[in-house]
Amino acid sequence: TTPSGHRPKEEKIVVTVRLRPLNKRELSAKDHAAWECIDDHTIIYRSLPQERAAQPASFTFDKVFGPDSITEAVYEEGVKNVALSSLMGINATIFAYGQTSSGKTYTMRGITEKAVNDIYSHIMSTPEREFRIRISGLEIYNENVRDLLNSESGRNLKLLDDPEKGTVVEKLVEETASNDQHLRHLISICEGKNLILFEVILLYFSFPQQIHLQHVPLKSAAQRQVGETALNDTSSRSHQIIRLTIESTHRESSDCVRSYVASLNFVDLAGSERASQTNADGARLREGCHINLSLMTLTTVIRKLSVGKRSGHVPYRDSKLTRILQHSLGGNARTAIICTLSPASSHVEQSRNTLFFATRAK
Ligand code: ADP
Ligand code: MG
Repeated sequence: TTPSGHRPKEEKIVVTVRLRPLNKRELSAKDHAAWECIDDHTIIYRSLPQERAAQPASFTFDKVFGPDSITEAVYEEGVKNVALSSLMGINATIFAYGQTSSGKTYTMRGITEKAVNDIYSHIMSTPEREFRIRISGLEIYNENVRDLLNSESGRNLKLLDDPEKGTVVEKLVEETASNDQHLRHLISICEGKNLILFEVILLYFSFPQQIHLQHVPLKSAAQRQVGETALNDTSSRSHQIIRLTIESTHRESSDCVRSYVASLNFVDLAGSERASQTNADGARLREGCHINLSLMTLTTVIRKLSVGKRSGHVPYRDSKLTRILQHSLGGNARTAIICTLSPASSHVEQSRNTLFFATRAK
C-alpha cells in the first residue's frame, strides 16, 4: 500500500511519472533541470530566482521515477501487474505519454523487453498450460493505419466492425511467435530497429568502394535516429501499437472455462504537444496542423474512464486509436500509463501539461 492508501495492484488505471536526465544537447545549451523528484511521490518545479513562482509548483503521485531510475524499476512498480494480467485472459494496455524527446520510445522499448521476458518465464513455469502468442504491429499517422509487419500493405488500412472481435484492422498481418527469440525478432521489426542496419548494408552492396564500414558508427547512428526526433518528423506525430494476443488452454481439460485469450498492447504515443493547441508561448498554432485527433480522443477517453461509471458516454469511436484499443480500455481491461517528462527549463510548459494529464488520468 502507498501512503494514499491505494493498492496500485488492483487499480484499473495505474499512472506513473518518469523524469529523464538532462541530455547532452540541453547540457551544452546551458539549460537547467527545472523539475526534480524530492521523494518517491513528489515532483517539484524549481523556479529561477528572477522568475515568479508558477502554480502549482508540486505534484504528487503514487510513484514518480527520477533521472537516476532504471527502466526495470518503472516496469516492476508501474507495469508488471498490468502486463501479466494478460496471461489470465484480461486485456491490458501500456501507454507512454509525453512530449517529443521526453523518453517515450526509450521507456516503452525497455518495458516491452521486460514484459516479454516475464511472459516467457511464466510460460516455462506453467507446463500444465499450452500457450500461443500472436503479434501484430501498426502505426497511426494522420488517422491512416499502416502495418508495421508488412511494408507492402499500403498506408491506409480500413477498420472493420466484427460482431465478435469488435474493431479489426483489415488485412493486418498477425504472426504466430514460435518462441521467445522469434517474438523478439518480430518486435524489433515493428520497432523499426532493423531498418538502419538494413539500409547501411544495402548501401554497402550498392557502393562498396565508397563505404568504409568501420567508419560507420552503427550503434550511434541508430541512437541518433531515436534521439533527435525533430518536432515535425513522423515518429513524433504517429502512434505505434504492438499487440500481443496471448491464448492458453489447460493441457488436461479442453474445458473452455479454463481457456484464456487476451490482448496486451504496447503503445508509444505521438508527442503530447500534439494534444494541445498552444505552444510554449501560449500562441495558437495553425489548426489542423498540430492537433492529433487520436491523441485528443484518447485523453478524453482516459479522463472519462478514470472518473468511472458516472462519466456517461465514452467516445471510443471518435478516432482510429481509440477504436482499435476499445476492448483493451475500460470494462475489465487494465491500463498502465507512463508519463515521461523532460526536466529542461525550456520544456516547462509541456512538462506541466503532462503532469496535468497524469493527475487527471489517476
Ligand atoms: P520520445 O520517444 O519521447 O520522443 P526518446 O525515447 O526518443 O523520446 O528519448 C529522447 C532521448 O533521450 C533519446 O536519446 C533517449 O535515449 C534519451 N532518454 C530518454 N529517456 C531516458 C532516460 N530515462 N535515461 C537516459 N536517457 C534517456
Ligand atoms: Mg519516440
